[in-house]
Amino acid sequence: MAGRTIGAVGEHGFLSRLLPRLPVSPDTVVGPGQDCAVVRCGRQRVLFTVDALVEGTHFATHWLSPYQLGRKSFLVNASDIAAMGGRPRFCVVGLQVRPAYRARDLSALQAGIVAAATACGAVVVGGNLARAAQLSIAIALLGEAPRRLVTRAGAQAGDHVYVSGTLGDAARAVRWLRGAQRGHRPAQALRRFAEPTPRLQAGRLLAESGIVSSMIDVSDGLLRDLGHICEQSGVGAVIRTAAVPRSDAYRRALGSSDLLALHGGEDYELLCTVPERNLPRLEQQRARLGCPITCVGRITAGRRLRVLGPDGREMPIAATGYDHFRTR
Ligand SMILES: [Mg+2]
Repeated sequence: MAGRTIGAVGEHGFLSRLLPRLPVSPDTVVGPGQDCAVVRCGRQRVLFTVDALVEGTHFATHWLSPYQLGRKSFLVNASDIAAMGGRPRFCVVGLQVRPAYRARDLSALQAGIVAAATACGAVVVGGNLARAAQLSIAIALLGEAPRRLVTRAGAQAGDHVYVSGTLGDAARAVRWLRGAQRGHRPAQALRRFAEPTPRLQAGRLLAESGIVSSMIDVSDGLLRDLGHICEQSGVGAVIRTAAVPRSDAYRRALGSSDLLALHGGEDYELLCTVPERNLPRLEQQRARLGCPITCVGRITAGRRLRVLGPDGREMPIAATGYDHFRTR
């Protein structure tokens, strides 16, 4: 791939060449390819993750106030800690800022990061500020690992597939913000987009209790993120679209349209698999999760991801707008 651009090689293509060549440490408990790495630091097992919000890629500056932007950039990282059942503890912040960006706005952004970190039980312990052509906020977050680790690998045929909260609202907001959807300002969807709620309590409980066999957060859309679980667990899945939880506002705006609930990203809900034998324990714990959780399908043998429409018939995945299960 010597002369090719990263755009041509693609994220998946690039990572699949890079990752096998990375040196490994005996203290790497879980390496790349998960929501967080798990490493041994002294006697402690620690979760470690990094994510960035980049102007022009993830947001336009008029979409979010600086304070909201700061909050969101922390919360998306906390969601990766939730997906591994951890507790966010310490973070460092890498800010890249246009010289014309107002100092007052940067202070508000920083205040947003600190507020979100505090709300999640974490503290900001350092960072770096650099000049750049576009605003970008990268946060590296350390978290306490649960006693029982849960990753994207571990789903088995017969497991039930569950998702927390509701899906599709953040994508609805992005569509409206990009001007692709007319009509009323979708206030509830915009709130979901601006203020994701990492499911820390549910993630922790589901991991510690050993109820789930695999878990991921829904950042790229239900089918794509379920694709990650299937790929890493060596299984397939069947999803019933009618079961995919949507908010009342979603139903009012889009009726029975599945597209954004199945494919929309940035909901930061949890997606997990539960072996049949653990269903009674899940029901016992349900009230303590801090959010609703809904069964949307089953894990199957064979590596196919199938989607059943409201009539119970299989829908061609391409017809739902999704055509590359295996990428990323
Ligand atoms: Mg994630």
